[in-house]
Amino acid sequence: MKNSIVGSSEGWDNLKRKTKRKKPKHKVKACYAIARKNSLEWMGYSSYQGYLRSEEWRRIRSARLEKHPDCALCGVKATQVHHMSYDPITLVGGKPNRLVQLCGLCHEKIEITPDGEKRSLYQANIFLFQLAFSQDRWTKAYRWATRTLLKDKWFANIRRYLNR
Ligand SMILES: [Zn+2]
Repeated sequence: MKNSIVGSSEGWDNLKRKTKRKKPKHKVKACYAIARKNSLEWMGYSSYQGYLRSEEWRRIRSARLEKHPDCALCGVKATQVHHMSYDPITLVGGKPNRLVQLCGLCHEKIEITPDGEKRSLYQANIFLFQLAFSQDRWTKAYRWATRTLLKDKWFANIRRYLNR
């Protein structure tokens, strides 16, 4: 009877707020893990680690780093490539604008919170764009973020979230 409105001192608004509450963080993360697992299984990989070690990913990754050698956020030499999506077409390299080259520090910054928790993919992407947009308009990072968000309908939810 804890959530009952009858005899509750919390009132209707509070109850509504409770039911509207977003999915707990660990469940959101689990969703991404499942989506990624499904994509990879469909592609014939038994794990994400296996995919990361594959010739296929190495080729996509080096092509990206060759074409865009500088970290999209800070401009130092990029050494890693972040997936902004785990759908199959991105994993096979069919949507290059859903990949972004980063240096190790920036990659860690967007994926791990200051408390050492791993962000969900969506949260990591939001933070990535927020960092880029926090810079001046004429910087490479700002221009990359604008271009990337506009190029692909897949980013519509992020665009809405950031009001851009
Ligand atoms: Zn960087």
